[in-house]
Order: sequence, then C-alpha cells, then structure tokens
Amino acid sequence: MKKIKKILAAVLLSALAIFAVVGCGSQQTGSGKKVLKVGSAIDFAPFEFQDEGETAYQGFDMDLIRAVAKEMGSEAEIQNIGFDGLIPALQAKNIDVIISGMTINDERKQKVGFSDPYYRSGLTMVVRSDEETIKSFKDLKGHKVAVQIGTTSANMVKEMEGVTVTELNTPADCFMELKARGVDAVVNDRPVNDYYIKQSQAVGVKSLEDKLSAEDYGIAMAKDNADLQKKINEALKKLHDNGEYDKIYQKWFGASK
Ligand code: GLN
Repeated sequence: MKKIKKILAAVLLSALAIFAVVGCGSQQTGSGKKVLKVGSAIDFAPFEFQDEGETAYQGFDMDLIRAVAKEMGSEAEIQNIGFDGLIPALQAKNIDVIISGMTINDERKQKVGFSDPYYRSGLTMVVRSDEETIKSFKDLKGHKVAVQIGTTSANMVKEMEGVTVTELNTPADCFMELKARGVDAVVNDRPVNDYYIKQSQAVGVKSLEDKLSAEDYGIAMAKDNADLQKKINEALKKLHDNGEYDKIYQKWFGASK
C-alpha cells in the first residue's frame, strides 16, 4: 500500500513538472521572465516588417503583441515564419500565438482559437497606373491576378469565374509580378495596399477604391488553450482601456480609431 502511494506521488509530481513547463504555453527566460513565443510572417507592412539593415521587427502587430505580452508579465519572442506555415507551427506547438494580420474565419477556427478582433480590415486591388479595364472586382474576369498563398485573398479570387490566379509567397512578390506585367492585378489586404502605394517604390501602380468584405484580424492560439485565449483577451481589453492600443494605432495609421 505504502509503495503504491509512493508511486502515485511520483507520477503526480512528474505530471505536475511537465505541466509547469508546457502547460501554460510559456517558458522562463534566463532572467526569470516568461516568454510568449510568437509567430509572424514578416512581410506585411505596416503590420509586420523589417527595414533593410535593421534587426528589429516592426509594425502595428509587433507593437501590439509586445504590449500584450508585457500585460501578461511575459516577453514576446518573435519568429519569422511564412504565412502558410503559421498555423502548422502553432499546431506543432513550436509557437504559442500567431499575430500576422490574420483574418478570423470559420475555416481557420476549425484548427485554431482566436482572440477578440483587434483590427478591422478588408480587401482591395492594386493595378498598374495605366490600367483602364479593371475598375472593380467584377472586372477581374478574363484577367491574371496575383495573391499571397494561404490568404483570404487567395480563397476569394480562386472562387471567381474566369480569373487566372498566380499564388506567390509574399505581397512584395505579388507587386513585383504586377510591375513585370506577369499579372494585371493584385488582390490583398487594404491597409497593406494603402501603405505600399504610399511608399516610393510603388511607382507605376495605383490602388482601386472598390473594397471587398470586412475582415477582422485576431491573435491565434492553440484551439485547446482557453486559458491563454482568456489572458490575451484580458490584455487586449486592458490596452484598449488604458489608451495604449490607441497610441499604437496612431503611430502606424496616423489617426484615432
Ligand atoms: N488577412 C489575410 C489573411 O488572413 C492576409 C494576411 C497576411 O498575408 N499576413 O489571410
């Protein structure tokens, strides 16, 4: 009897130890701070990008997740992962959360959990400045269109009749293909298109007014991690209440929400 009790205690202790390490989806750093492992596809300015010669990742999502982690008493450790590799990385538990301008939708909700929405987005098109036939989404019929692989834009364009779709790794690749006349239009998230057009490299292209579907961005976490989901939602709420969210919003979008 005594022996059984001992064995039981040992099993319980090791279970507790394992739970302490992996249970809450965070680890300790050398300095004792917890680490929130974040995955993001760093090619989506102004949400996540890296300036040439810079080591730090910057953008709205980067500031937001660092602030969220801080509220949780953690430090964000951000890994650059291709957009279509983000959900698999989360499922493999290589990362704790995704922040990557990721739209909350039913298809993804089958695989991951989402925080409350943190940004309202939508889709627009970029065409060459001399483009005269494409003025709205319905004009895409009969044309070649580039989209980023694994995105809501890709899903949408693939459903359109008579459109030839080229799927590329990043929005930057899509814009290059447009300028090289390999495609006639790029469908991509509105704030990213707007930001790109404002940049000096965006000569010879323009974005169109027509906007499709309102999309909400969310922070994704493992589907079974309700505890982390709750903590992230609480942190987001705190940042809205204390004005920090607005500060970050103004820094990147220049206006109050
Ligand atoms: N919002 C789009 C999506 O979730 C694109 C995101 C991205 O390319 N980073 O599919």
